[in-house]
Amino acid sequence: MTTRAGLITSVTLLLFVALVAASALAQTNDSVAAACDAKVKAPDYSLPEWPEKAEVKVFIVAADFNPEQIAAILTPLRNWSAVAEATGSQVTFVYSGPTAEHQDCLNCLTIMRGKVHDNQKHAAELQATVNQGEQTILYARLVIDRVIPNLTALTNAVAHELGHNFGLRDCFECRAGTTVMGLIRSSDGLTGPTRCDVAQVRRVYDHVRIYSAEVKRRKPQQVAKIVPVDEGEEPVDDDTPIVVKKP
Ligand SMILES: [Zn+2]
Repeated sequence: MTTRAGLITSVTLLLFVALVAASALAQTNDSVAAACDAKVKAPDYSLPEWPEKAEVKVFIVAADFNPEQIAAILTPLRNWSAVAEATGSQVTFVYSGPTAEHQDCLNCLTIMRGKVHDNQKHAAELQATVNQGEQTILYARLVIDRVIPNLTALTNAVAHELGHNFGLRDCFECRAGTTVMGLIRSSDGLTGPTRCDVAQVRRVYDHVRIYSAEVKRRKPQQVAKIVPVDEGEEPVDDDTPIVVKKP
């Protein structure tokens, strides 16, 4: 039987949790402001992200990439794993080897070549699968068009698409070099997350922790729905802003 004193304690505890949560968000908002270009967009938590502490198994379709290209892909994976603690996500990527076809297993990411819609404007696409009504990634495919011009752009494209895996949005108007979420260029040399990206992802995962209890209360859905997260980026050095249609 629930007593009145018990109820009051629960309410007090909930208020305390809410206050602590608000304080954590305020701190990370300050971190984003300090680390980012003023034009950077705050994450609005509508994009899917890997679950906290996930060890993501990465497969690369063997027929699609040569050894040099595989090395160019593994660099940004290592760089995102290296900030697992700093972002608060504790998400790491473990290369699980070549594969003949995409691996749609829990916490699996397959990197593959494919035709990206309108590849004159867009060159890479992230396809994340979530349970309908939720935004925790079950598995994902990173599709890279053959128009990606060189190894530097390939590294940059993977670093950028992994940013979408952490809920980050594009910031094509951001100053070059301040975020990996800008235009994919053949020349800016970003191989992984910047200080700004780390601060933003920290904010995303503060939100994930605060609201995970709410998600757990919902009835699990059996039907998974494929959600196209990103329609791709400009493959070459170009200052023209790209309008990316969001689903
Ligand atoms: Zn993008």
